[in-house]
Amino acid sequence: MAILVTGGAGYIGSHTVLYLTQQNEKVIVLDSLQTGHKEAILETSFYKGSIADGSILDEIFSNHTIDAVIHFAADSLVGESMKDPLLYYENNVMGTFTLIKKMMEFDIKKIVFSSSAAVYGNPEKVPIDEEDSTNPTNPYGETKLVIENFLKWCDTSYGLKTISLRYFNAAGADPEGRIGEDHTPESHLIPIVLQAALGKREKVVIFGDDYNTHDGTCVRDFVHVLDLASAHYLALMRLRNGHPSSILNLGNGTGFSVNQVVEACRKITGKNIFTEVMSRRPGDPARLIANSEKAIKELGWKPVYSTLETIVEHAWNWHRLFPNGFSPVKKNKIKH
Ligand code: UDP
Repeated sequence: MAILVTGGAGYIGSHTVLYLTQQNEKVIVLDSLQTGHKEAILETSFYKGSIADGSILDEIFSNHTIDAVIHFAADSLVGESMKDPLLYYENNVMGTFTLIKKMMEFDIKKIVFSSSAAVYGNPEKVPIDEEDSTNPTNPYGETKLVIENFLKWCDTSYGLKTISLRYFNAAGADPEGRIGEDHTPESHLIPIVLQAALGKREKVVIFGDDYNTHDGTCVRDFVHVLDLASAHYLALMRLRNGHPSSILNLGNGTGFSVNQVVEACRKITGKNIFTEVMSRRPGDPARLIANSEKAIKELGWKPVYSTLETIVEHAWNWHRLFPNGFSPVKKNKIKH
């Protein structure tokens, strides 16, 4: 039996593929490489293509005996989704419809779905429970919620079993430094701060210090990408063992402010990192912290890299080894 991992060349996808192969699972990756990196796939069968392309799914499902899908493939930039909702509904929602349609045709009834804390929007309280209200504040989060709901009806009507994993802030890298986080353009806090530590940025722009938090900057729950990877494996095993569908938060349950993250990066790297406070980024909630008790209980999930220092250390290790990311070509200095 093999697992199809869509978006397996992306950041969380590639770390999950690495983890699955370490558990002796047979993995097939489908990735369009629009944002993913072929170099992030170490030793796995790879198909280049889109989840919206029924013919490549026919080929994969005919050539391999696949019992489950782990579905990461999606566009995931909040700002871009605000500018172009059509793109996000087309790639995330319509692409997933094609994937599920083909899964039903080939009688594949298990899927672990890559959801997001973005489904909550501005939370009514923290830590956030799965039952709290979902009011996405951007099209990206809305597409994730649409798919979660769609999967629920597919369970009712076709018996498709799903575990949707709502990630908080994924960060860190493979502890052995083989793969890591490389987005173009980069928009995530930790890689941006580490690019400043490497001298690839002059400074880090802090988006607002007038939030209602202990130091005025936003607070986030950072979770190590390999801990996310292990949760996907446990979710898959739970579905294989015949358990019902579920929706689970994945975070550490501890919040760190943007200022605290910058300070941790200064400490780990030993570098001067300059910051400048600018205006708030539209759509940023002040505090996002997960209650992940349900995942801990249902999956037996135990995050092992849960301190901010370890997360930053592993990310820094990869950024130092691969200062230009997966690309061998030197990128120009980034303005800020
Ligand atoms: N952030 C920042 N400067 C940056 C990038 C991010 O101040 O250059 C802040 C952002 O406003 C948010 C936090 O860092 O409060 C985490 O942002 P990120 O994009 O990493 O993740 P998000 O929480 O949006 O998923």
